[in-house]
Amino acid sequence: MFEKVLIANRGEIALRINRACRELGIATVAVHSTADADAMHVRLADESVCIGPPPARESYLNIPSILSAAIITGADAIHPGYGFLSENADFAAMVEEHGITFIGPSPDHIRMMGDKIAAKKAAVGLGIPVVPGSDGPVSDLAAAEQVAESIGYPVLIKAAGGGGGKGMKVAHDRAQLGEAYRLARGEAGANFSSDVVYLEKYLGHPRHIEFQILADSHGNVIHLGERDCSLQRFHQKLVEESPSPALNADQRAALGATVCNGLKKIGYRNAGTLEFLYEDGEFYFIEMNTRLQVEHPVTEMVCGLDIVREQIRIASGAPISIQQDQVRMNGHAIECRITAENPETFRPSPGRITEYHTPGGLGVRVDSALYSGYRIPSQYDSMVAKLIVHGQTRNECLMRLRRALDEYVIGGIETTLPLHRKIAQAPQFVDGAYDIHWLERFVGLKT
Ligand code: ADP
Repeated sequence: MFEKVLIANRGEIALRINRACRELGIATVAVHSTADADAMHVRLADESVCIGPPPARESYLNIPSILSAAIITGADAIHPGYGFLSENADFAAMVEEHGITFIGPSPDHIRMMGDKIAAKKAAVGLGIPVVPGSDGPVSDLAAAEQVAESIGYPVLIKAAGGGGGKGMKVAHDRAQLGEAYRLARGEAGANFSSDVVYLEKYLGHPRHIEFQILADSHGNVIHLGERDCSLQRFHQKLVEESPSPALNADQRAALGATVCNGLKKIGYRNAGTLEFLYEDGEFYFIEMNTRLQVEHPVTEMVCGLDIVREQIRIASGAPISIQQDQVRMNGHAIECRITAENPETFRPSPGRITEYHTPGGLGVRVDSALYSGYRIPSQYDSMVAKLIVHGQTRNECLMRLRRALDEYVIGGIETTLPLHRKIAQAPQFVDGAYDIHWLERFVGLKT
């Protein structure tokens, strides 16, 4: 087992990883920008190293600084968390070249799945169903028109290197295709390392359902069931739950087995998530994330397994601590992502926390790096807390969610807590009868 892990991240996820390390008896090193000198992840780590000025490019994405921090502190492994360098194959390779273990998959698997076109091709080869679309990149408008005619409108133009819902444009008919194609390519080029785009059939009312998997270096691959992440705005997740209200045990077991067999064939290692759209009883693979996900706690609450602990154990060469037939999905869990934003306009609202009170009691978990007096910097992601609740049934979980949201006080800034309180009461959410477009209609955003 490792003696010291460097956590190449910030905020709630750095804290989350620090907790898992502590429970394994591993010392931790926090890295931070000058804007985060007072951050909770720095305070709770055993050691900390300042790696640069506030812009992420110069600190949390600064590979030489992070590698130097690992070397001078004698860390024997690096956990990248999510976002930042977590899906950067070159970073993973460089970490290993320096004799440090990267807590995640191999650089080759990160690279393959990071390119959504290659990921879809790999999925087809492994017998995993995908959304109908172009076979590869679509390099000009004429090619886009041809694919769109063959799969039928509406179509979605997506960035091959995309993430965070960016670089994605819908065309409902041929007249819209030119503009959508240009916009998607422009957004892809501006946000990602390439402007390569591809085409997919745009599904009208799917749910987003994803499978959490764990794989070790002994050939074991297991799944921990699914998460339903259909509550989104701007293609970004806001509320997640497990199990999905739309799935039954047979469907779960069938797709879970297909996914595990596929990953076993390619020798995948560590944690990963396969994302699917689910419509009219059919699953369609859209992408794989080769890292820990923001919403991993709902799976942990239902399965009673610490996914970060498993990631660390797997990276150290140990087998996964349970087998597939020991995975028990117990009860129901829901997570709300709370952001420092106006709950109606979603305008960011960084600033100082004047008052802070977290909910508690049975089945309530808060993953957050906030504290009273903390000043939220404006440079980073606006998500400041995750409230996760667990109940024996979905109904108990919903009742608990409402009372936990009522108890939660974050003073001094605007947050999306009021929006979450409204969602938790909304009849369609309560019934579980929602798709990926429901939330945007609910909050009055254009879809
Ligand atoms: P990103 O990597 O940017 O998050 P994804 O491919 O994971 O992009 O898609 C994000 C979200 O966009 C999905 O959860 C879904 O809501 C929507 N989406 C993606 N592909 C399609 C599609 N073919 N049809 C309809 N919606 C889609």
